[in-house]
Amino acid sequence: MTTLTATDAPMLANYVLGNWHAPSDGDPRILRNAATGAPVAALGAHDLDFGAIRHYGRSTGGPELRSLTFHQRATILRNLGKYLAERKEELYAISTATGATRGDSWIDIEGGIGVLMVYASKARRELPDATVYIDGPTEPQSRDGSFLATHIGTSRHGIALQINAFNFPCWGMLEKFAPAFLAGVPSVVKPASPTAYLTEALVRQMVESELLPAGSIQLVCGGLGDLFDRLDGQDSVAFTGSAATAAMLRKHPTVIENAVRFTAEADSLNCAILGAEAEPGSPVFNAYIAEVVGEMTTKAGQKCTAIRRILVPEGRKDAVTDALVAALGQVKAGDPGDSETKLGALAGLDQRAEVRAAVEQLSAAATPVFDSLDLGDVDTENGAFMSPTLLTATDSRAEAVHQVEAFGPVSTIVGYGSVDEAVELAALGRGSLVASVFTPDAGEGACLAVGIAPHHGRVLVVDDATIKTHTPHGSPLPGLVHGGPGRAGGGEELGGMRAVKHHLQITAVQGSPAALTAVTGEYQTGAPRSTDKGHPFRLHFEDLEVGDSVVTEPRTITIDDIERFADLTGDTFYAHMDEEAAKASPIFEGRVAHGYFVVSAAAGLFVDPDPGPVLANYGLDHLRFAKPTYPGDTLTVTLTCKRKSLRPGAGYGEVAWDTQVVNQNGEVAAAYDVLTMVATRPVEGGDESG
Ligand code: NAP
Repeated sequence: MTTLTATDAPMLANYVLGNWHAPSDGDPRILRNAATGAPVAALGAHDLDFGAIRHYGRSTGGPELRSLTFHQRATILRNLGKYLAERKEELYAISTATGATRGDSWIDIEGGIGVLMVYASKARRELPDATVYIDGPTEPQSRDGSFLATHIGTSRHGIALQINAFNFPCWGMLEKFAPAFLAGVPSVVKPASPTAYLTEALVRQMVESELLPAGSIQLVCGGLGDLFDRLDGQDSVAFTGSAATAAMLRKHPTVIENAVRFTAEADSLNCAILGAEAEPGSPVFNAYIAEVVGEMTTKAGQKCTAIRRILVPEGRKDAVTDALVAALGQVKAGDPGDSETKLGALAGLDQRAEVRAAVEQLSAAATPVFDSLDLGDVDTENGAFMSPTLLTATDSRAEAVHQVEAFGPVSTIVGYGSVDEAVELAALGRGSLVASVFTPDAGEGACLAVGIAPHHGRVLVVDDATIKTHTPHGSPLPGLVHGGPGRAGGGEELGGMRAVKHHLQITAVQGSPAALTAVTGEYQTGAPRSTDKGHPFRLHFEDLEVGDSVVTEPRTITIDDIERFADLTGDTFYAHMDEEAAKASPIFEGRVAHGYFVVSAAAGLFVDPDPGPVLANYGLDHLRFAKPTYPGDTLTVTLTCKRKSLRPGAGYGEVAWDTQVVNQNGEVAAAYDVLTMVATRPVEGGDESG
C-alpha cells in the first residue's frame, strides 16, 4: 500500500505492466474494518489502460510462461508456496480486519497456500516435463499403425481474467491462479472491493518473492474498465460471486460473440441431509449437528459452500432443532482477533444489511428458532456482527427456502418424508456446489448420494467410519471438483488437472507415428527407433533420447517354463496346468504361459544386468496381454525410451519404456510401459546429483 488519503487509510495500488500504479486519490471508497468500522484502506479511481494490460499479459506473461515446462512452473509454485508460508503472519494480521477469526483466516491463507503446494506436486506426478500435454491414449487411425491420432493440450495465448468474491481474498485468488499458471497462461486478478486490501497484500508478497515470471500476474483493484470489450477466444474469464453478477457478465456481447471461455462459481443453497437411519444421540447424528453449526459459524457463514438447508426426516425435526439450538448457544462469538472466538464478523455493514434482508424474505416461509446469541463486548453498530440465525420451514417446498441465499450465519431446517422427497427437495435448490449426507446406513447413503448427484458438484457422505476423518462439508479441495450445475454457476474449478486443462486448447492431431512423436515429445509405437548407442540401460539420463531402443535375442517358451513358474509362484490356474480344461475354454487352444511369466521372461531378455544408470524399476503402466503365449512360441522384446522426466536435485529422472513383446508371427503378445529411475551423469568429484 503506497499513498495515504485524507483519512489516513492507505490507498490500494494496482500491479499492472510489471509495476505498481497508485490510483488517483480523489473521492476514494473507504474500506472499513469489519469489526470496528475503522478505515483500513481506500480504493481510488483509476484510469488504467486495459488494452495495454491485456497486451502485456499476452506479449510478456504468455511467452515467459510458455518457455517453461509444466514441471518448471510447478517448481515455481512450490517455491512460492514456501515463500508465502514464511510470511503468512503478515496476512493473518491484515485478515482480522475482514472480520475473520484465526480459524477463518487459516482456511483462506493457509488453505490458499496449500492449493499451490498440492497443484505443484500433482503437476509433477500427472503432467509431463514438457510444454505439450497429451490428453488420453493414442487413437489408431489405420490398420497397419502408420496413421495415428492423439489429443494434445497447449497453453492458450490469452489472459486468464479472474474475478473473485469478497469472502476468500487469498484462497479465492490462489485457487484460480495456480491452475492458470501451471497451464502457462498469465492471470489478471480482480479482487472483490470490500476485502481487496488483503488480496493486494498477498500479491505484493508474490511480486516481492521475485519467483514469478514477468507478466504472469497483474492485479486490478476496482473496476475493469473496458477490459471485457477487448477479450477474444484465447482469453478466459473465471468468475466467483453472486448468481446475478455471473448472469450479467456471461451475457456480455464480447463473451458471446468471441466465445470467450467463461466459468462461474456462483451462490448456491447447499443442503445437508440427515438420513432416517441416524438416531438422535447416535455418533452420526451428533456429527451432523456439529457440522451444521461449524458451517453456520465458520467465516460467519460467508462461504459459498455453507449449509443453507438442513434437510431432516419430519420425525426428527424437533430433535435436530433442540440439538442445534443448544449447540449454537455455546458458540463463542465476538472479537475476531481473540483466539477463542469462533464466530467473527461479517465482511462489512453492507453485507450484514443484505443478510438481514434475506432473513426477512425467508421469514415469510420459515420461523426463526434461534437468533439471539450473546455476541459479547463488541461494537454491533460499527462492527458487522450478527447472531447465528436458525429457522425452521413452515412449508418444506416454499420457494424462498430453496431460493433465497442469506450469505451469513443463517440456515433453515426443512422436513422430508422419504428418501425420494429428500432428493426432490435437494433439487429445488436448482443446482448446488455441495451437499452432504449423514447416515450410518450405506444403502440409504447410496440412494441419497446418487439421487442428488446430478444437481451437485460434490457430495460428502458421512457414516460412522468417517466421523473423525472427513473434511468439512464446506471445504473445496484442490484434487476435487469445485463447482456445481445450474444456479451454482455451471462451472468447474479445481478437481486436479481438470482445472489446468481448462486453460489449455485441446487439439486432435493426426499423423504418422514419427510425426506424433515429434509433436508430443513422447515415443509413439511405430516411429523410427535408434539402436546406435548400444544398450540404452548403459546411458545416463542426459544421454538417453526418446526413441533409443534395444531389440532382444529371442526366447522360446517351453512347457517346463510354465511348470517351473507355477511351482515357484503357486499359480496353478487351470489354463496353465490342465491341457483338457484349457482346450475346453472358449479362449485358449491349450495350456498357455502365465502372463506374468511372459512379463518376467521379457525382463530377463531386456535387462542389462550390471550396475549402471538404471537404478530401479518402479512399476508398469498399461499392461495388456494381447495374445496367448503357448509352449513353443518364440518371444522377442523391443524396448524403447518413451518418455523422460528429470527430478531436479534428486540425481535421477524417471524414464518410461515402451515395451512390445512379439511372438514368431509378429503378433504382440504383451505391450506395456516399464517405469524406471535412471541416474543423471556423475558430477565432478563423483557425487551423483542432478
Ligand atoms: P458479487 O457482487 O457478484 O461480486 C463478485 C465479484 O464480481 C466482485 O469482485 C465484484 O467486484 C465483481 N463485479 C461486480 N460487478 C461487476 C462488473 N460489472 N464487472 C466486473 N466485475 C464485477 O458477489 P459478492 O457479493 O462480492 O460475493 C458474494 C457472493 O459470491 C455470494 O452469493 C456467494 O455465494 C458467492 N460466492 C461463490 C463462491 C463459489 O465458489 N461458488 C465463492 C465465494 C462466494 P466489486 O466488489 O468491486 O464490485
